[in-house]
Amino acid sequence: MRAAVFLDRDGVLIEEISFLTSMRHLALFPWTTDAIRALNRAALPVVVITNQSGIARGLFSEAFVDEVHREIAARLRAGGARIDAYYYCPHHPDGCVAEYARSCDCRKPGRGLVDRAANDLNIDPARSFVVGDKWSDIELARAAGARGVLVRTGHGEAEQSRQNAAISADAIVDNLAAAASWVLENRRSGDRVVGDRQSPIDRRSPI
Ligand SMILES: [Mg+2]
Ligand SMILES: [Zn+2]
Repeated sequence: MRAAVFLDRDGVLIEEISFLTSMRHLALFPWTTDAIRALNRAALPVVVITNQSGIARGLFSEAFVDEVHREIAARLRAGGARIDAYYYCPHHPDGCVAEYARSCDCRKPGRGLVDRAANDLNIDPARSFVVGDKWSDIELARAAGARGVLVRTGHGEAEQSRQNAAISADAIVDNLAAAASWVLENRRSGDRVVGDRQSPIDRRSPI
């Protein structure tokens, strides 16, 4: 089973604008494509894991979210970068659209989406990373046994100032570019922790 990088979407890959309801407001950060490409080059699967309660709130449809993800994929492809899969939670307990208005196990910090991706893509969550701009993303990392990186983009800066003793990130960095660097630098030690002596990186790393 492989290590992977689970990325939050809004505030991490793209600008956080509360609820993205129009494609006109879709904006990747200037460093997004390069950061994803660096992870691609390292052969780390990159998986988007995103809460999209706007569906339960009646603000947009699942079809629109799929369309946004196709557009993100196209923009990344134009820059030679690729996200391996996109997973979203459409639910919210206070939603107004009946079929989505419920509590679920896939809304972060629940680990339902990570488990689904792990099953679909042969990923080991315990060797993986979660990058997000909210403490709930870091809670997800903890729940999945992954390492959690908080970025200061999106809600990240405000979240950092609300830090409490209950949860701490493995790293707090400026943005996705810095998070990708952190993941690549810390991947080796993570593999060593789980005793993966067969990985080429591990074999050539004298301590
Ligand atoms: Mg976010
Ligand atoms: Zn859900």
